[in-house]
Amino acid sequence: HPPFDVNAVRRDFPILQERVNGRQLIWLDNAATTHKPQAVIDRLAYFYEHENSNIHRAAHELAARATDAYEGARSKVARFLGAASAEEIIFVRGATEGINLIAKTWGAQHVGEGDEIIVSHLEHHANIVPWQQLAAAKGAKLRVIPVDDSGQVLLDEYGKLLNARTRIVAVTQVSNALGTVVPVKEIVAMAHAAGAKALVDGAQSVSHMRVNVQDIDADFFVFSGHKVFAPTGIGAVYGKREVLEDMPPWQGGGNMIADVTFEKTIYHGPPTRFEAGTGNIADAVGLGAAIDYVERIGMENIARYEHDLLAYATHGLLTVPGIRLIGTAADKASVLSFVLNGYTTEEVGRALNEEGIAVRSGHHCAQPILRRFGVEATVRPSLAFYNTCGEVDTLVAVLQRLASGRTSPPR
Ligand code: PMP
Repeated sequence: HPPFDVNAVRRDFPILQERVNGRQLIWLDNAATTHKPQAVIDRLAYFYEHENSNIHRAAHELAARATDAYEGARSKVARFLGAASAEEIIFVRGATEGINLIAKTWGAQHVGEGDEIIVSHLEHHANIVPWQQLAAAKGAKLRVIPVDDSGQVLLDEYGKLLNARTRIVAVTQVSNALGTVVPVKEIVAMAHAAGAKALVDGAQSVSHMRVNVQDIDADFFVFSGHKVFAPTGIGAVYGKREVLEDMPPWQGGGNMIADVTFEKTIYHGPPTRFEAGTGNIADAVGLGAAIDYVERIGMENIARYEHDLLAYATHGLLTVPGIRLIGTAADKASVLSFVLNGYTTEEVGRALNEEGIAVRSGHHCAQPILRRFGVEATVRPSLAFYNTCGEVDTLVAVLQRLASGRTSPPR
């Protein structure tokens, strides 16, 4: 039987009651962003009603409350990721800003002419472009781990790319375009054996599975709060303490300094060294509340539920005539990506929207991997733990009607 009561979970997410085009919303665009439980919405309101202040600088009651809430959220992120300490967690806007921070600080310091950076063919543009920019600035080379026809990375080919010039390997844990679960632990171990550092992009993994950065042994790990039921505009970088301690700051300003004269500035240690200016305090606190929420349900329970739902949805989609599923790796999470004979991806997206079903259609900010499969765009339903088999049935029924050229009856 299911590991938690999905109907009770659904009642925690007010937007799931929303009606779209006369139907109850079916949200299958979780890889783009996730919805927020009432607990997160309430926590934001509570912060602004009872705790709002800038942090660290002022010695008054609300400053103390805001600081406790913000640093409490940092500790929650550290525990959620299995980090050794809260000092290893830097708050950023999201995965994109996190990867840019690492490329601009660690990258600028450690990547030089003739050096090599490895990414996989699966990467989101956020884990390609910052490395490309760094490589161009430094005269370094970007190398790409190829994938097989199922959309899984080829570890043997990866092994051949590693060499003494490899400085960093940056890979996603789950592909946002295909759903492939990448064997990041092996990839990190192979990077370390070659003397390189490793970054794992967890934007698509943390909401679907238990993550432990110490078990993976990643030097860096990034994710976005908004994809794990938290507000937009907040995310985190995990960095191993010894790696962060050696890293130069990124932006300069208040908060990140220990002492400033016109001659010289002494910076704080991590993580404050990387948090110049007033941070996104309330949304960080909201992220802490989102982590509390998913931990109450249990990431193992969420993973088990979604595994069965993904299998159910995969089976259902394969009954649609003329469908081509892209991304068929044995180990997948959340994402289904497909094209449908006779229809553009926009047409499929529009037909689903008319039925109140939200999916993404387009290139998903991952053009290289779609082109690897000979397409420019796919339709991408993506699941979360609040989705149900009933919702999947509706999706499949609408696609079957579309595929057979029939118009849809009211539902
Ligand atoms: N990496 C992956 C794998 C993603 O799916 C995304 C978001 N689609 C990002 C990075 C970037 O996340 P954000 O836009 O929240 O910074």
